[in-house]
Amino acid sequence: MTEKVRCLIIGSGPAGYTAAIYASRANLSPVLYEGMQPGGQLTTTNEVENFPGYPEGITGPELMEDLKKQSQRFGADIRFGYVTATDLSVAPYKVTIDGEKTIEADTLIISTGATAKYLGLADENKYAGSGVSACATCDGFFYRKRKVAVVGGGDTACEEATYLAGLADKVFLIVRKPFLRASKIMQERVLANPKIEVLFEHETLGLTGEMVVQGANLVKRRGEADETQVHIEIDGFFLAIGHKPNSDVFKPWIETDEVGYIKTIPGTPRTNIPGVFASGDVADPHYRQAITAAGSGCQAAIEAERYLSEKGI
Ligand code: NDP
Repeated sequence: MTEKVRCLIIGSGPAGYTAAIYASRANLSPVLYEGMQPGGQLTTTNEVENFPGYPEGITGPELMEDLKKQSQRFGADIRFGYVTATDLSVAPYKVTIDGEKTIEADTLIISTGATAKYLGLADENKYAGSGVSACATCDGFFYRKRKVAVVGGGDTACEEATYLAGLADKVFLIVRKPFLRASKIMQERVLANPKIEVLFEHETLGLTGEMVVQGANLVKRRGEADETQVHIEIDGFFLAIGHKPNSDVFKPWIETDEVGYIKTIPGTPRTNIPGVFASGDVADPHYRQAITAAGSGCQAAIEAERYLSEKGI
């Protein structure tokens, strides 16, 4: 079963829905497939206080529902479905949905996002939205004058620990190795901050607390003769052990960096394939914010419209 569309958008986070709003208002009759997690990463966040236009804040699921409705208002065709294969060798580009349906698209906007990595502890699910977070910029504000822990030893972990130290009373940085992997300047910033205590060679075993996170059970120097069990009292537990951009299904055709982020021409959402654009976290290792994703979704739709009109399609 094959269907031909002028503008196909993959992904339903702020980037995908914003692309759909702009593309539908430009009469491109966009079709958007929502993917595995309709609404994207924000649906796992409670309160969003930094998206402009909501002075009282808004919950992540509500914000995404509003963006979806706004795109539908102008005729965007929003569908359930997941991309299982692609053939971007020649336009129109072929995208297979759920292994059965093929869409032929004159333009393709990839907004599949990135997935934060978790440790794989059952407690991360148990306390999701109740003290466990993978985004300090999103949720740090709720931990003003509280105690938090950040897991990881890279640039993200150091950046988040420093950011949180500006809000919280105390930040534990839980690092599994005896050293930080982050850049020198980030390390220095963390080590010089009196509010941050780095726990080298510590791993997390589990979280504790009634309904919400109140502590974490750690092990120091696991497997060594001097292995020690450690308990810390915390109100928030932040994961900063990396993100995985959801680009695998496009990789045979689209250039990515070594981590998998789609490479775009700087300042634009253009990929190495004409008519194929990438917006949001799948192409953004740096900012990863809802508002920057929305902005790049807008850029992608404008680029798609210009590409189509230049081609006379
Ligand atoms: P990284 O892959 O650089 O670091 C991940 C960290 O998490 C490492 O310390 C790693 O430990 C740790 N980790 C991974 N898995 C586990 C686990 N299961 N348990 C405990 N710890 C774990 O990811 P980042 O997100 O920090 O950075 C990604 C890229 O983005 C990097 O290139 C970074 O430089 C860049 N970046 C740049 C920034 C800037 O310049 N301002 C800001 C943020 C990111 P280990 O070292 O033992 O492997």
